Amino acid sequence: MSQDPRGVRGPGAGARVEFIADCMLGRLAKWLKILGFDVLYFPKAEDKDLVEISRREKRVLLTRDTGLIEKTKRRAGRLFIESDDWREQVVQVLDEYGLWDSVRPNSRCLDCNKPLKPLPKSRARNLVPPHILDTAPSFAMCPGCGRVFWPGTHYGDMEARIAALRRRSGRGQTSLFALSAKREV
Ligand SMILES: [Zn+2]
Repeated sequence: MSQDPRGVRGPGAGARVEFIADCMLGRLAKWLKILGFDVLYFPKAEDKDLVEISRREKRVLLTRDTGLIEKTKRRAGRLFIESDDWREQVVQVLDEYGLWDSVRPNSRCLDCNKPLKPLPKSRARNLVPPHILDTAPSFAMCPGCGRVFWPGTHYGDMEARIAALRRRSGRGQTSLFALSAKREV
């Protein structure tokens, strides 16, 4: 993610938040990565390891465990995830950190958690099937595992799913309006 030249660190203005999710939040972790965010997830990690990584790497700990919240009280940021529903969970995280404008679908490798790098068509030539080379508008490569990605047939569906998530958010699309409305109350 690029730095905002004005140095503004508010919602959607170059804010950079990285996460680590507890064992109960696999689906949330996956969806945050699909939306382009940096999320560590270890299905079998112990609490003390999650707390330690969160502290060391300054990652917000996402958890459904109130005990874990207690353990991180005076340490790095943490967020208690309220809902059991992954869609509500995604909305909570994006609302909490003002990340709706930072959503970059399919820009991160779900396995390596690394941001994908643009790959020129000339370099994709030997890495993808010929009909994909002819039809895909762009390519990207994961610097971790070397896999090549391109906008697939599910892309339209992805846009619809993100739009549905935005509709669940009270602040998603109209953050300025929501702020001014709040002030009037
Ligand atoms: Zn990868």
